[in-house]
Amino acid sequence: MVDGQRRTPAQIAKEALRRLAQAQQEPTPENYARAYALESGQDAAPARQPDPAAGNKAQAEELSRVIERMVRGLERGGRSWTLARKKDGVSRVLAANRSDIQRMVARLSQLVSSWDSDGAPIGTTEEPGGTPSQFFVDEEFGPASRFLEEEPAPLLQLQPSQQPTQQSSQQPPWPEIETSLHTTVQHALRNPVGHGEDLIAELDAAQRELLSQGATPERAAQMELLCQRARHLLDHRQHLFAELGTLCRELSASIVELAEDDSWAQGQAAVMNDTLSQGLSGRGVRTVSEMLLGTRTRQRQLRDERSRARESLKLLIQRMLAELGELGQHTDRFQNNVGRYAEAVEKADSLESLAGTVREMVEESRSVQSLVHQTQERLTMEHDRASELAVKVTRLEDELRKLSNEVQTDQLTQIANRRGLIAAFETEQAKAGRDATRIALALLDIDNFKKLNDTLGHAAGDVALKMLAERCTQLLRPGDMVARYGGEEFVLLLPATPLDEAQSVLLRLQRSLTKSLFNHDGKDVFVTFSAGVTLYRPGETLEAALDRADMALYEAKHTGKNKACVAP
Ligand code: GH3
Ligand code: MG
Ligand code: MG
Repeated sequence: MVDGQRRTPAQIAKEALRRLAQAQQEPTPENYARAYALESGQDAAPARQPDPAAGNKAQAEELSRVIERMVRGLERGGRSWTLARKKDGVSRVLAANRSDIQRMVARLSQLVSSWDSDGAPIGTTEEPGGTPSQFFVDEEFGPASRFLEEEPAPLLQLQPSQQPTQQSSQQPPWPEIETSLHTTVQHALRNPVGHGEDLIAELDAAQRELLSQGATPERAAQMELLCQRARHLLDHRQHLFAELGTLCRELSASIVELAEDDSWAQGQAAVMNDTLSQGLSGRGVRTVSEMLLGTRTRQRQLRDERSRARESLKLLIQRMLAELGELGQHTDRFQNNVGRYAEAVEKADSLESLAGTVREMVEESRSVQSLVHQTQERLTMEHDRASELAVKVTRLEDELRKLSNEVQTDQLTQIANRRGLIAAFETEQAKAGRDATRIALALLDIDNFKKLNDTLGHAAGDVALKMLAERCTQLLRPGDMVARYGGEEFVLLLPATPLDEAQSVLLRLQRSLTKSLFNHDGKDVFVTFSAGVTLYRPGETLEAALDRADMALYEAKHTGKNKACVAP
């Protein structure tokens, strides 16, 4: 033990506290007094206060008051100030103020005040207090590393996010901020392919360590390294994204070459290029994918019909050859028989035998005639089938060509499709630019449409789409437009329309859908839709505006459907 005579009362007080902690004794006033007496080399019993004569009497009183408050503070639980933290705080204050008893008493008093305010309702503290982090980053106290000489002290003591979150206005909620940032980084790193899982795990571990053990320069450096790796990974993904865009453009350029007839795919390639030139957006990519899927399905159908027609023709030719062969055999036999009949006629010695030969000849010629007739019928039938298939192939080819050429109208609903919408939008945009009016855009998505398809059948689903398009067209004002944007998604283009008016349009449409949309097998069918509405911002692309509307639509879907949400 260090000689009690050569130590200051503060050092003795610190040692006394340490003694209590080591002995795992409760820090009651009696125990503390006994420990102090032992440390200062005096008899443990009876317990005595440090000799006031050794220092200033007033200071000693102040010290004893602070110690009493400290002991009470140690006994009381805290929200941010745990017992371990309190003990740590006391050692730091003692260590940093060994040479100045007055300053030490003042710091101890502030420390205890900050314990007192911990857990107290907001606004009830008399003295400025705070959390350990605030206490140790206090300007007056300087950086926390000054409190301990041997080891770098935490710069910022973070609390786990499960801690109660009520904070006073002067106390920044660091744990919440930190957790929110951490969750965002995790979210950014996570991807369906799974790369980045290791990094996420390492970041998790580092964050847990930070929360439980506080920040040190080493931990900060480790976190910076991990964040650097995260930035590289995200940069790499960004690069991949750009590469994918290039790949799509390449594909779109070669799609025409890949098609059997370039006129079947030229329009689709143009739409794809249009979309890609507006920048990659989730919605745009999905629309192009759906359109290509449609083209592919029709091309596949066409190929199937073609191969059926080819097979049918092959069969027809084979059958024709077989029939001709058979016919040839029959006519050969007939020819041979004709010679035989001629001989028989020559040799005929009676009218009866002549009549018999003639009867045989007539029968034989009849059977040859019927065979020729049957063959003719069969061949005509096969020919008709082959022609029918050829017509089907031509119809499909035409359809594909039309699909590619007339890519502005949706085939099913006969309203504008995505390309038609873009064209109409460009016209409106030019107009809006001149008279500075704004364009409202609403993205509608039928609610639970899959269920309708599943219960009533795909054909009924098609009818629903047609009828909804019709209902929208009827309800919209002249100058407004409805377009089918994809499967069961529609876009309303409302020129010179403020947001509240756009909402009224949607409300009108929703009200009209409380009447049945159509009748299926004697039953009324109703549909509802969810929508996202936004105003086009001059200078942005249509895709960007629709992406914003899509976010509002997403909100509408996730907050109960059959409603419209606004993206300002
Ligand atoms: P939610 O309310 O979340 O929008 O659910 P949902 O069922 O409407 O949405 P989901 O995207 O799961 O299903 C959309 C369905 O629309 C799936 C698809 O088969 C159907 N669909 C897309 N295009 C057509 C079409 O042209 N005709 C028919 N009948 N159905 C279509
Ligand atoms: Mg949908
Ligand atoms: Mg839907």
